[in-house]
Amino acid sequence: ELAEVTTLLLSRIRDIPDHPEPGVMFKDITPLLADPVAFTALTDALADLVVRHGATKIVGLEARGFILGAPVAVRSGVGFVPVRKAGKLPGATLGQAYDLEYGSAEIEVHAEDLSRDDRVMVIDDVLATGGTAEASVQLIRRAGAEIAGVSVLMELGFLGGRARLEPALEGAPLEAL
Ligand code: AMP
Repeated sequence: ELAEVTTLLLSRIRDIPDHPEPGVMFKDITPLLADPVAFTALTDALADLVVRHGATKIVGLEARGFILGAPVAVRSGVGFVPVRKAGKLPGATLGQAYDLEYGSAEIEVHAEDLSRDDRVMVIDDVLATGGTAEASVQLIRRAGAEIAGVSVLMELGFLGGRARLEPALEGAPLEAL
């Protein structure tokens, strides 16, 4: 059954070469989102992980982590908290800077939406270098919450994201469907 789901999900991910720049193979999930059977299967598979790891909140990473994380939150009966690029959230934020291949980036969260009692599942579509997920885990810990795990649709193994992320996870699971 799980193998069938994996095959269905893979069949709905489109490879777009040289987007957004030469040399990048972009993993486009819009065909998956447009297929209600595949989108529901993905939502159910991620909701299973939320329940299995006892998460009390979902953090979705801008922007595709919002699309995937919100239905999972509703399905599993937990709250949803967006982590956004710096400057977008209107309230009091906590920020975390991280290194990119060239330069750096910063993400933010509304700290008041996370509490000491929360166990957080981080959701995104693609784990590439792991920089965004690593910064999110650091941010969530600084907001006082615990990490239940990081769950993604796809991991681009050759970029080494898992190795970068694992020290920050301190034993919490990283799962790629
Ligand atoms: P990273 O911080 O390098 O792990 O990058 C992760 C973020 O960039 C995720 O939010 C992904 O949505 C996006 N991303 C990176 N590489 C790709 C790719 N090849 N295809 C689609 N999205 C990507």
